[in-house]
Amino acid sequence: MPAFSKKSEERLNTCHPDLQAVCRELIKQYDFAVLCGHRGKAEQNAAFDAGNSRLIYPQSKHNTKPSLAVDIVPYPIDWGNLYRFREMLHRFDALARMMRERGEIESEFEYGADWESFKDYPHVEIKTKG
Ligand SMILES: [Zn+2]
Repeated sequence: MPAFSKKSEERLNTCHPDLQAVCRELIKQYDFAVLCGHRGKAEQNAAFDAGNSRLIYPQSKHNTKPSLAVDIVPYPIDWGNLYRFREMLHRFDALARMMRERGEIESEFEYGADWESFKDYPHVEIKTKG
């Protein structure tokens, strides 16, 4: 059974409990790494400068505590294989639905892979109302 690395575990621990809960179920059936949970000001602006985020601090859902967003990638990492990203996100979404039905989590999620203007394949965030 796949398991998180120490780094992935540390990053996941900075995330909202519902993101953590789904990731902890997903790792049991699909190997992936957590690249990012919470981002502070310096990290957020560095991500913006590198073109990895379209938002400056504190506008990203990675900037809250706990983080309302997580970046996850199939492991081993192959940025060119978008099929594996979709497969991972499909499983994430199926687990999330099931866990909502069971009352284990409340959150609904939005996927950066679904964004039209800026495809952000690793990005999963909690939908906020309003
Ligand atoms: Zn992200």
